Amino acid sequence: MEQLFKRDGSIFTGTVNTDEKGRTTYTQVIPCDRCHVIDGQRLWVMGMENNRPYSRTGFECWTCGNTGIRGQREERLYTAAKLERVNKTAATRAARKAEADRIAREQAEAARVAKDAAFRAQNADFIAKLESLDGDFWSLFRNDFLRRSIAPTARQIELVEGEVAKRAKNAASAFVGNVGDKMTLTVTVERIITLPDYGYGKNYITLMRDQAGNLLVYKGLSDIGQQGETVTMKATVKEHNIRDGVQQTVIQRPKVLEVA
Ligand SMILES: [Zn+2]
Repeated sequence: MEQLFKRDGSIFTGTVNTDEKGRTTYTQVIPCDRCHVIDGQRLWVMGMENNRPYSRTGFECWTCGNTGIRGQREERLYTAAKLERVNKTAATRAARKAEADRIAREQAEAARVAKDAAFRAQNADFIAKLESLDGDFWSLFRNDFLRRSIAPTARQIELVEGEVAKRAKNAASAFVGNVGDKMTLTVTVERIITLPDYGYGKNYITLMRDQAGNLLVYKGLSDIGQQGETVTMKATVKEHNIRDGVQQTVIQRPKVLEVA
């Protein structure tokens, strides 16, 4: 009789059966997965401990009637020629599926790239502004924004445009007057920072912008005005310094003449 093989290609040596369609088969025994031989006795297994099955009950296996065999099924046997054809068909099918998968992956990647490009085009202005902002905060903001690919909110636009405008103003800021000059200045209060109270009372830093866009700073208790207010005042130039790359003029003894 011609040599027969199992599906995995191994040579078959046991009893050959024939199924109702006349095909050659063999009986494959399905071992029981609920019992195990422990110390020479087949027992129902509760679980595994240190990779060894254990049975605290000492029960016999009800699943397989303690035979160790769960059941059996007929498996096909193949001649060398038939096995070759079966393997060839399986290989062709696998290659077709791999090719289909590859195309699907490429299409998905192309769609992702197109979507990303569309998002960047739609938000080009916002992204360009974001890219002009250096520093860790803005770098995280930018990466997060591009990763999410969701149109910016009104709040995000306001934040970015505010920062861009502030930086543009700061870049244009120049020193005002000379140290020691007593000057009359018209300024808009940009921000008031309250310093911690160390027992001498509160202290404030008032940041102001003159009409040419130059940054002025006052540290002290005098009230120059509320944020957003424009005032005309007399003050003395105390110092010129550069902070975070911005030229700023520190003033002292401000005296408000007029609130606009
Ligand atoms: Zn069993």
